[in-house]
Amino acid sequence: TSSVRVGIVGYGNLGRGVEAAIAKNPDMQLVGIYTRRDPAQLKPLHAGTPVYAMDSLLSHKGQVDVLILCGGSKDDLPKQAPELAAHFNLIDSFDTHARIPEHFANVDKAAQGGQTTALISAGWDPGMFSINRVMGESLLPDGATYTFWGKGLSQGHSDAIRRVEGVAGGVQYTIPVEEAVNKVRSGVRPELSTREKHKRECHVVLKDGADAEAVRKTIVEMPHYFDEYDTTVNFISAEELARDHATMPHGGFVIRSGNTSAENKQVIEYRLQLDSNPEFTSSVLVAYARAVHRMAQTGQHGCKTVFDVAPGLLSPKSAADLRAQML
Ligand code: NAP
Repeated sequence: TSSVRVGIVGYGNLGRGVEAAIAKNPDMQLVGIYTRRDPAQLKPLHAGTPVYAMDSLLSHKGQVDVLILCGGSKDDLPKQAPELAAHFNLIDSFDTHARIPEHFANVDKAAQGGQTTALISAGWDPGMFSINRVMGESLLPDGATYTFWGKGLSQGHSDAIRRVEGVAGGVQYTIPVEEAVNKVRSGVRPELSTREKHKRECHVVLKDGADAEAVRKTIVEMPHYFDEYDTTVNFISAEELARDHATMPHGGFVIRSGNTSAENKQVIEYRLQLDSNPEFTSSVLVAYARAVHRMAQTGQHGCKTVFDVAPGLLSPKSAADLRAQML
């Protein structure tokens, strides 16, 4: 058969999303989930999905075409991606932007050594947003690029508020400032400060006896996380937190506006509006896993990014069908 045999490495939000996405792609086949925890304790979405210990992965080498790495960018991927790229074709969603060159070098060395194809930093940012930044800049060299995020739940900022003394729980949403988005859409190429582009909204559950004003002040003045933004803090009950803030919505815009002559401005906009950040990221990973498999089959080894993948390789359709139906 021509189906692509996929292994999921790590089973958190992204791992579950990949399992769901594979079920929507008939040409992709899930070999199993590989975890560092006790496989017997994991509950996959589909009861029939095999769960294995990471130790058994190497012995399944001949049965897996592509691994989709679903570990965290901070501690898991920098270690797992180079180790596994020595033996398997793979894809990850590494999103620590400042460390991408270093991660690329480590994975490339392993993939060149093992003659495998390893694509890093797929998803939406980095990923689809990155592609749209490159397209905008290439098509409109005389212009400006803007990325807005949200409205969306920021995991890092939510973790930061949960560490504040007196806080029992909470979430943080990043929200684009509408006036700024509209100004950018008009094509006037404004210069915008950090504060002018995004605002931050926190929903916090206090511990018994905690001082609300002290908590609010600690949050809005927190260096790096909040001090450069207009931040609002709403106090809610534990029930409201569980009822209204349990999902992980996200999204945003990449906008390029440029001038092709003195008279004419052009504006390009790419927008994502996501009910579930991890489920969308996982859908992107599965499409790119198809491309990785095809690139490996044609001997394009080493580390790759989304910039190296032709759009047609993402589609289950043949090149001839794409020309006939989509061009
Ligand atoms: P997560 O749920 O924390 O899972 C990360 C890893 O932690 C899993 O692979 C799993 O490995 C382990 N784990 C999960 N649940 C656990 C639990 N209950 N107890 C102990 N260990 C557990 O992270 P995520 O939300 O899937 O996100 C993973 C990464 O995706 C993030 O770090 C982020 O960098 C990246 N991401 C990228 C984009 C993009 O656009 N490029 C977008 C979203 C996210 P084991 O099964 O081996 O234990």
